[in-house]
Amino acid sequence: MTQEFSERIQRVEPSATIAISNKASVLESDGVDVVDCSVGEPDFDTPENIKQAAKDAMDAGHTGYTPSNGIPKLKNAIAEKLADDGLDFYGPENVIVTPGAKQALYEVFEAVVDDGDEVVLLDPAWVSYEAMAKLAGGELTRIDTAAHDFQLEPALGYLKDAVSDDTQLLVVNSPGNPHGAVYSREALEGVAELANEHDITVISDEIYKDITYGVDAPSLGAVTDIDRDNLVTVNGFSKAYAMTGWRLGYLAASEELIGEAGKLQSHSVSSATNFVQHAGVEALENTDEAVDEMVAAFEERRDMLVDLFAEYGKDIVEPDGAFYMMLPVAEDDQSWCEEAIDEAHVATVPGSAFGTPGYARISYANSKERLQEAVDRLDDADLL
Ligand code: PMP
Ligand code: GLU
Repeated sequence: MTQEFSERIQRVEPSATIAISNKASVLESDGVDVVDCSVGEPDFDTPENIKQAAKDAMDAGHTGYTPSNGIPKLKNAIAEKLADDGLDFYGPENVIVTPGAKQALYEVFEAVVDDGDEVVLLDPAWVSYEAMAKLAGGELTRIDTAAHDFQLEPALGYLKDAVSDDTQLLVVNSPGNPHGAVYSREALEGVAELANEHDITVISDEIYKDITYGVDAPSLGAVTDIDRDNLVTVNGFSKAYAMTGWRLGYLAASEELIGEAGKLQSHSVSSATNFVQHAGVEALENTDEAVDEMVAAFEERRDMLVDLFAEYGKDIVEPDGAFYMMLPVAEDDQSWCEEAIDEAHVATVPGSAFGTPGYARISYANSKERLQEAVDRLDDADLL
């Protein structure tokens, strides 16, 4: 007997970012030295004060279930962080604390997208938005920004032509994965105008907001007059605080949306882990210095890598945030990335996984020595 699976689950493939990083781990466990520039994960350990706060919380007995949407102390700290980002209209009642920003996004997609609803992505777009849209039954419309150095402002005209009263959801991610571009205030104003005109829900995924290099990444809700009922702000602890494995993120939205998304949270994960939430409070309140140090290190690596690739005639659009850059490669980016991992033992993610073929995404959350090694190996394998 062959087992039958749902039509819904068969709409999607496993996450490409995670699949490639898994492949790198398998090669490494076979004794191969792989330079892993695939997954978007800081190479730093979680700052000590955050780890200590988790241990203290565990010792104090914070090991049981918590309220599904999160402990009040963390929801308050998140509301304060959002106010610091210029989003002073969110209170703790507007927040759901989730096991990772991915779960927050998943809950929002499920809460707002019905079968056949139009979901608009700005390409290149992080791999999981597409999967979440498809799982919810959405129909994708994709707007390319690669031709405009990954900036949204010059592509606003295409966006305007694409959206209509039938558009249900638009996802904005600045600084963006996989390109690191930071959208201008004008671009975000354009988004808000369209959202207000056509009553579109907009997710502003701000998970890289605190990782920028000499510029500020404005928050959509802070610099525009977007209707607050249409705005969902998503953020998390994985990137800025080097807490990927802790699984902690959040969404902020209208109380109505919190009610709907909260149903899914309560029926699926119940809540984020209790002592991890306590550590999240410490992260938000006492970790600025460690974050600054990590961001300074990412910036040095970005500069080094852009210069190194330039020596090979590779013109990289310099990212202003996050820790990714798009390396222009052969048209068949899938084969290029396969060769890179199989022959040069350098793991990267093909641009086509993000809707933009012809590039490989390089995550530079890696030491300078390892990044130099990656470039040398790609050169030796004639891939540059
Ligand atoms: N959004 C973007 C753009 C990301 O790159 C990631 C990376 N994992 C996430 C959300 C989710 O992060 P996490 O679930 O680790 O909080
Ligand atoms: N977001 C990171 C990446 O794009 C981590 C893996 C994932 O969740 O996709 O590599």
